Amino acid sequence: MFDLSGKVALITGGNGGIGLGMARGLAKAGSNIVIAARNQAKSEIAAEELRGIGAKVQCLPVDVADEQSVKDMTAAALAEFGRIDCLIANAGISIRRPPQELAADEWKTVLDTNLNGPFYCAQAVYPAMKAQGGGKVITIGSMASIFGLPFAAAYASTKGGIVQFTRVLATAWAKDNIQVNSVLPGWIDTELTQTARTQVGGLHERVEDRTPAGRWGNPGDFEGIAVFLAGSGSDFVTGTAIPVDGGYSVMGG
Ligand code: NDP
Repeated sequence: MFDLSGKVALITGGNGGIGLGMARGLAKAGSNIVIAARNQAKSEIAAEELRGIGAKVQCLPVDVADEQSVKDMTAAALAEFGRIDCLIANAGISIRRPPQELAADEWKTVLDTNLNGPFYCAQAVYPAMKAQGGGKVITIGSMASIFGLPFAAAYASTKGGIVQFTRVLATAWAKDNIQVNSVLPGWIDTELTQTARTQVGGLHERVEDRTPAGRWGNPGDFEGIAVFLAGSGSDFVTGTAIPVDGGYSVMGG
C-alpha cells in the first residue's frame, strides 16, 4: 500500500522546503522523482541527495507561471520516464503587504504562481495519467485556505482557490481513476517562512503558542502524507484538504 517502486512523481518546487520533504518520503518509498523549479543549481543539490536514497532523479527548469514552460517540463518528464504517476503542485510564493498597499502586479504575480501554475500543471499531466489508467495529484493549500491573514491578500486568495480547484479536479477526474487531494501545511520552517518571520513581528512566538504540538513543522513532517496520498492506500480518498499542522487549525480559544 505504501510501496511506490517504479512510480514517477513530478514535484514543482521540489528543490527545497516542503516539496523536498515530500520528495524524500516518496524516494524512500521507492518512487523516482522529477524535481522542477527555477533554480537548477539548487535542484541539482536536492537531486544528489535523493539519488543517495536510491531514486532515479531528473531535474527540470520550470516557471510554473508560464504555461509553455509547464508544457515543456511535462514533455521532458514523459520523454525520460514514460509516465507520471503523481503530480505535486507545490511551488508557491507570497508577497506580504496589507491589502490596500498590494500593487496589482504583485497580486497577479502571486496568482500566476500559486493558482495558475497548478492549473497549467494539472492540465499538462492529465492526458498521460488518463492514458496510463490513473494517477495522483496533490496540491498544497495552507492555513490561509481556512483563515484570514491581514498581510496575505493574494496568497490567501490563491490558497482558498486551490482547495476549490482540488475539489473540482477530484470530481471531474474520478472516472479516470485520478485522485486529487490538497495538503494544508501549518506553519513550517522553510525559506518562505524564514522571510515571513523577518517581516511579521512576533510571528515565531505566536505560532509556537497557538500550535498544540508546541513547535513549528519541518519538511520531514510531509514525508508520510506524501507517501499516503501518492500510494494505493489513498485510492478512495479524493477531494480532501488535509491539514498537516500540529493541530493549529483545530485549536480553539
Ligand atoms: P520554499 O520557498 O522553501 O519553496 C518554494 C518552492 O517553490 C521552491 O522550491 C521554489 O524553487 C519553487 N518556486 C517558486 N516559484 C516558482 C515558479 N514560478 N516556478 C517554479 N518553481 C517555483 O517554500 P515552502 O516549501 O514553504 O513552500 C512550498 C509550498 O507550501 C508553497 O505552495 C507554500 O505556499 C506552501 N505552504 C508553506 C507553508 C510554510 O509554513 N512554509 C505553510 C502553508 C503552505 P525555485 O526558487 O528554484 O523556483
